[in-house]
Amino acid sequence: MAPSKANDGRPQTRAKGPLWADRSGSAAVGGLPSAVKWQTVIFIDLDGTLIRGPFEPAVFPVVFGELARKTGRDIREIRRRAIHDYLDRQKNSNLPVVQAVDWDDIFKTMAAGWGVDLEANAVEIANAHAGPPDAVILDHADQVLKQLAAPHRALVLATKGLSKYQRPVLDALGLTPLFADILTPDVNHALKNDVAFFGQWPQAAKVCISVGDHYDDDVVAPKRLGFAAIWKIGTPDEETVEHLVQAKSNAGLRQLDPFERPARWEYAPDQTVRPDAIIFSLRELPEIVKRLEDQSSSRSGSR
Ligand SMILES: [Mg+2]
Repeated sequence: MAPSKANDGRPQTRAKGPLWADRSGSAAVGGLPSAVKWQTVIFIDLDGTLIRGPFEPAVFPVVFGELARKTGRDIREIRRRAIHDYLDRQKNSNLPVVQAVDWDDIFKTMAAGWGVDLEANAVEIANAHAGPPDAVILDHADQVLKQLAAPHRALVLATKGLSKYQRPVLDALGLTPLFADILTPDVNHALKNDVAFFGQWPQAAKVCISVGDHYDDDVVAPKRLGFAAIWKIGTPDEETVEHLVQAKSNAGLRQLDPFERPARWEYAPDQTVRPDAIIFSLRELPEIVKRLEDQSSSRSGSR
């Protein structure tokens, strides 16, 4: 796996905030940390976890509408094709990851394949609709992030969306300053299922916790990478009706302790990896994080 590249001349995309250099006074950002500097790093997903972004309400309707008008194709078929290409590209190891998840590139490639020119531009539309009502904070996420903030913790945004789409939304919703770092596929040229995505952060903390709503990216991958995984339910993304039905049939588990829910959850047949906890609301997060930290301390104390 390619190592992360911090000094290749790309613009500095890190958030303002307490980067390691500020804490340690020695390790440079992008350099190997000489020691663990945080007790906990929490990698938090964006779309469907903290916010609803402008793609569904603003970008997709404009782009798919134009493609439907110009090609005579059914708008639902265009949408299916775009989502299919988006997922398919992520499995293609020959394609640079930044290109794989670049919606503008996906849209333009589809248009070119159908012999039409696409005028709509996803970056422009996403920027123009980066705040309410098309982009909104879910579940009092801003309050919860403030509640989670502590000197021993780093809150790191981990999103599969490129910075050109995500940064304007984070800025417009006032979330940017709440993170120690913002990781997008264009920072370390990797996707969330690849340890390279996380740069030096996993080595900088004793406990790595992942929080997100996407089973593969936010449960399977983090568990494989040795992180604790907290799966957030309750705001299903675009995936499938199946997902919605599954969420509904599991709604009765709300009364259970979040750490007991994973054993009782009705998973899809291919979902064999278990998260450490399942939450229905971000409000449950601060206590869960605290308990994971306590578990980790008692484990290291008993060694
Ligand atoms: Mg998500």
